[in-house]
Amino acid sequence: MTGIAVFETVAAMCTAVAGWHAAGEQVALVPTMGALHEGHIALVREGQRHARRIVASIFVNPTQFAPHEDFRKYPRTFDDDCAKLADAGADAVFFPSVEEMYPPGFATRVLLLGPAAAGLEDRFRPTHFEGVATVCCKLFTQSRADFAIFGEKDYQQLKVVTRMAADLDLGIRIVPLATIREPDGLAMSSRNRYLSDEHRALAPELHRIMQELAARLRNRESLFGAVTDAQGAIISAGFELDYLEARHAETLAPVTSLADGPLRLLLAARIGSTRLIDNIAV
Ligand code: AMP
Repeated sequence: MTGIAVFETVAAMCTAVAGWHAAGEQVALVPTMGALHEGHIALVREGQRHARRIVASIFVNPTQFAPHEDFRKYPRTFDDDCAKLADAGADAVFFPSVEEMYPPGFATRVLLLGPAAAGLEDRFRPTHFEGVATVCCKLFTQSRADFAIFGEKDYQQLKVVTRMAADLDLGIRIVPLATIREPDGLAMSSRNRYLSDEHRALAPELHRIMQELAARLRNRESLFGAVTDAQGAIISAGFELDYLEARHAETLAPVTSLADGPLRLLLAARIGSTRLIDNIAV
């Protein structure tokens, strides 16, 4: 007994949403992969500011994982997730199987340019965003939701999905929400549970170093020098750094000075076998 409606088929979800729309109620979709934390619940609360009805989807989407990535071991905590969503006042969970989303013969991908090819996550996860965009496009058209709520935690993803929704006239408004952090500054993430105690204690350094970098940039220090120092500090702290870059906050285009702004700092770093991403505004 979960206390919240669970739809396992597209048809069941569509019927519920159509009923709400017929009653004049708007619907916000909160797409997730489950293993929910306070960041996800904040998305539900943001959705409630925009729409009467909230559908959270829980789908660990195989097409956005590379073969060597953690699809199989990605944390799955369905009962606990449903209890949290019910507590938050969400109306329904869409919980499709892989076969429901990708029936035999499925052969389509969304081709992305622009922010998806900015040379950040896409450099390390070359097929990731086409998987994200394909599943989001399906979720948006399946649900016919009026709003979809996305976290700034996955900043490049937010830009990719916003661009796609506009470019393909998907008729849904993408609403961003600021990153929710632990008290020590670590961005909440389902993958934080992979961290050993030692690595968990080190992980907030990423946010601290980015904040220090943002402060230096606001003080008009040289972009190249300040970014290089911050990259060095991350490596000295014991991380393997995939990237730390300042980019244009809207287009994600490379920048050479503060005058190219507004700027956003984006990073990905690995510690042990866990890969962490984060970003902040300058
Ligand atoms: P995930 O389940 O990790 O695929 O994330 C589902 C949604 O939750 C995405 O829109 C994420 O950006 C968002 N999200 C994840 N972590 C956070 C966080 N710490 N703060 C805000 N949003 C988040």
